[in-house]
Amino acid sequence: MDAKTSENTVSNTWTKPLTQPEAIPAQADVVIIGGGIVGVSTAWFLAKQGVNVVLCEKGHIAGEQSGRNWGWVRIQGRDEREIPMMLESLRIWEGLKEEIGEDVGFTREGCFFTANSPKDLQSFEDWVAVAKNYGIDTRLIDADELKQHVRGAAVDWAGAMMTLSDGRAEPHKAAPAIARAAHRSGATILPGCAVRGVETSGGKVSAVVTEHGSIKTSTVLCAAGAWTSMFCRSLAVDVPQLRVRGTVARTAPAENVLDGNIFDDRLGIRRREDGGYTIAHGSVLEHPVTPASFRYFAKFFPALLHEWKLVRLSFGREFVDEWNAPKVWDLDKPSPFEETRVLNPSPTPGVLKGIRRNLDTMFPQLANTPIVESWAGMIESSPDVVPIIDSIDRIGGFHVATGFSGHGFGIGPGAGKAIAGMLTGADSSIDLAEFRLSRFFDGSPIRPQSGI
Ligand SMILES: Cc1cc2nc3c(=O)[nH]c(=O)nc-3n(C[C@H](O)[C@H](O)[C@H](O)COP(=O)(O)OP(=O)(O)OC[C@H]3O[C@@H](n4cnc5c(N)ncnc54)[C@H](O)[C@@H]3O)c2cc1C
Repeated sequence: MDAKTSENTVSNTWTKPLTQPEAIPAQADVVIIGGGIVGVSTAWFLAKQGVNVVLCEKGHIAGEQSGRNWGWVRIQGRDEREIPMMLESLRIWEGLKEEIGEDVGFTREGCFFTANSPKDLQSFEDWVAVAKNYGIDTRLIDADELKQHVRGAAVDWAGAMMTLSDGRAEPHKAAPAIARAAHRSGATILPGCAVRGVETSGGKVSAVVTEHGSIKTSTVLCAAGAWTSMFCRSLAVDVPQLRVRGTVARTAPAENVLDGNIFDDRLGIRRREDGGYTIAHGSVLEHPVTPASFRYFAKFFPALLHEWKLVRLSFGREFVDEWNAPKVWDLDKPSPFEETRVLNPSPTPGVLKGIRRNLDTMFPQLANTPIVESWAGMIESSPDVVPIIDSIDRIGGFHVATGFSGHGFGIGPGAGKAIAGMLTGADSSIDLAEFRLSRFFDGSPIRPQSGI
């Protein structure tokens, strides 16, 4: 096969056979729904404190967003509300290899947002000022300095915003390795175990009902990524959330043309541990329009305005699928979570073509490097593109951690530590008030500050 024709190969990484647990525990102090980076990190921090924690994942650990993302671990450009948690997360990433005894490919070579004009470069100044307040090493660099980090690009950039302390890690390794560390610390990790619902008694959580039976518990964390809104809706808890599809590809190993993570409006690119590149279009994300798009239109309108250059609306079967999906279901029958074990959207062929074209024109040295795998992931976003981490007053013991909005991989370990603190009451030193769910309902202005 000609090297370049392999580029539409869809990944089979997530279609491996499902392992199902032989038995599930009858009781737990905490049950976590979802084995993405947020769920496994929380499980790890809880288990280290001696908490009896069980994590249920309907498919594979990191089978959805946490295994499909670009692998950027960045603080640069974030909403200020996320900065303390992200600083903590960077500290955890730095020590992760030593602490868990597994290498997840974390390395710091910086994050670069390129500027096509002096005006573009100036537009980064506000964030540089924010960074300064937190002692973060972000600064603006000119075209000559950028060339020291990006070698031989055929682009006439004016410069970039650069944070050298930012890093990257390998998504297919990170969450599974943290899950193994959680298991070694005493957590029970159950892939192939969908949670159908929650039982309550006197207004408080009394058990979770899984496809393999019930687990008695008084504390539940719903960290179900793109499924959180649907899960919570079945409990009459309204969590505004919409999905956005991102198409991603990776190349074969090739010449080293850059350090760090480069974001340009044509291409997002970072070098992989295997010597290839993870690449994506810099300005195309697709929102499949569904009934939820109309239900939450007003709440997401500010985000749509903020991201109008980036988000394309697509109209397909997702609308009918969501329309036909049940809103509540019997807990003794298979639920929608068993029907879709792994949310595995197809990469969009037109976007892949654009990625290939932009890679070839921007990095002529990589023009003959084949794309060996492509995939897509469904990003779940909150209305202000900042996570929702909260206890739900109406159901005692029920908690939600979701809405990581396209940048939850990097902040995942820090979030896990903070969420574990929320669940046990132990001080995590990170204030979660900014992440409360009620900000979307109490008249607070919805102000997206960072991008998806
Ligand atoms: C294309 C793409 C690129 C991205 N790039 C970056 C990046 O470079 N840097 C960055 O920081 N972030 C990035 N992100 C965002 C990041 O991947 C997510 O924010 C993060 O992985 C969210 O983690 P999570 O644990 O909340 O959710 P997920 O990883 O989605 O995990 C949720 C899990 O819950 C499970 N689940 C759902 N319902 C149930 C149920 N009822 N029972 C049991 N299990 C259930 C699901 O199967 C899933 O595995 C990107 C995302 C995508 C899709």
